[in-house]
Amino acid sequence: MRVLHVNVEQAVATVDGETKQRRVMTFSCIHCNTVLGLQMDERTKPRPKRATPSA
Ligand SMILES: [Zn+2]
Repeated sequence: MRVLHVNVEQAVATVDGETKQRRVMTFSCIHCNTVLGLQMDERTKPRPKRATPSA
């Protein structure tokens, strides 16, 4: 079954057994905010939340 009305957000989570944080994608229902799942975003390197503007 495919859930269409999902809200995809990026988050940073600490994974069990690991000391560093990983960037993950969270899928939640836009209606009731139920978290439907998490997905590791392996391709994206974790970035600091407050990134200094490079320009
Ligand atoms: Zn729902």
